[in-house]
Amino acid sequence: LSTLKIAIGAMELTKKSVRDVMTDIDDVFMLSEDQVLNAETMTRVSDSGYTRIPVYEGNNRNKVKNLLYVSDLALIGKDNNITVKAVARFNKRRLRIVDENMPLTALMDEFKMGDYHLAMVAKALDVKKHHNGKFVDDKMDNFILKSMKLVEATVLPAVDASEDHPVTLVGLITLEDITEELLQAE
Ligand code: ATP
Ligand code: ATP
Repeated sequence: LSTLKIAIGAMELTKKSVRDVMTDIDDVFMLSEDQVLNAETMTRVSDSGYTRIPVYEGNNRNKVKNLLYVSDLALIGKDNNITVKAVARFNKRRLRIVDENMPLTALMDEFKMGDYHLAMVAKALDVKKHHNGKFVDDKMDNFILKSMKLVEATVLPAVDASEDHPVTLVGLITLEDITEELLQAE
């Protein structure tokens, strides 16, 4: 892998947003917090191969509030019939939600700070609507914002998933997705 390739990869990063490299929500392996951690579920988790698993409320896959680490399951007996909710709430892994339009370089800066390396990705306007009553998801407003070159500045920093955000989730992104982008530039 040449230095030139990495330099090109770094330049490519500046043009991309979270949406361009995230894992699509349909491909995200998640669990309902109501799920009982029986032998079958445990097997599904370990077969998934992922170390961090988003946890949603009830049967609403947009309400992802927690994150379960596979390592959190190490001390659980298969016959205890404990729920995902109990384990997730006990371990309290912080989970963040980012705007799909967040520039990759901005998310990389957050990841570099080291507190977290995985985030759920939300459809842009939902997050904006919730955070600032002034933003409406009307095409004209969007047009005005764009023509004023304010759009980039309106992309929100990450928000906490544990709070109530009425968002539409569109994906999941990890540090690995960004580094891959950096190293695989053609
Ligand atoms: P680690 O490498 O730390 O063991 P991992 O393999 O679970 O973790 P990453 O290496 O961070 O996850 O990511 C690898 C790829 O898998 C990335 O494209 C990421 O978006 C995706 N990914 C991570 N977790 C999930 C998940 N729960 N469901 C679907 N895709 C996931
Ligand atoms: P990786 O380096 O494989 O991506 P990670 O940094 O996501 O792993 P750990 O190294 O196991 O995870 O945890 C480091 C700390 O960061 C822990 O305190 C953990 O609770 C926290 N953490 C991990 N993932 C997240 C996340 N998605 N959101 C917020 N905090 C997190």
